[in-house]
Amino acid sequence: MSIRNEPNVLSRMEKTGSDILKCMHCGVCSGSCPSGRHTILNVRKLLKKARSDTAVLSDDSLWMCTTCYNCQERCPRGIDIVDAIFEIRTLAVHEGIIYPEHRMVGELLLEHGHAVPINEENRAKREALGLDPLPPTVHSFPEGLEEVKKLLVSCKFDELMSEK
Ligand code: SF4
Ligand code: SF4
Repeated sequence: MSIRNEPNVLSRMEKTGSDILKCMHCGVCSGSCPSGRHTILNVRKLLKKARSDTAVLSDDSLWMCTTCYNCQERCPRGIDIVDAIFEIRTLAVHEGIIYPEHRMVGELLLEHGHAVPINEENRAKREALGLDPLPPTVHSFPEGLEEVKKLLVSCKFDELMSEK
């Protein structure tokens, strides 16, 4: 995995790059983060790292955020923290920094039109809840699968998943 020689991640973030500069390091975000209580994620430090270091793109904690939005709702500076995390993740993926597990999910989406295709266990669970065994997606409308695939190809998602 190579990281392009870009000194500044913020300048490559179209929506939230300048927002991050408003951070006053109060720590409300990291103190409000449920994921941070159980993982290596420290969202304040992550955003700080984005200001100066391209290594943020390969920081494992980037993927520990569950996008619960707690931090964003509480940030006194009104910084769109989660949107910033999404932007940094997007940059990372375009650098080819994709974990094997994420690539596997992407490949499932390309093949089945679902990141988590239905299986016997989930069919049974749905039926036990009084639902149709298949959700009203391409599983129920297989003719739509080609359309889903076309959409994914049109946004070059297939190329992204095939870059190793
Ligand atoms: S809550 Fe907002 S201002 Fe405070 S450290 Fe986090 S991002 Fe910065
Ligand atoms: S959105 Fe992510 S970073 Fe923010 S509080 Fe939730 S898990 Fe933590």
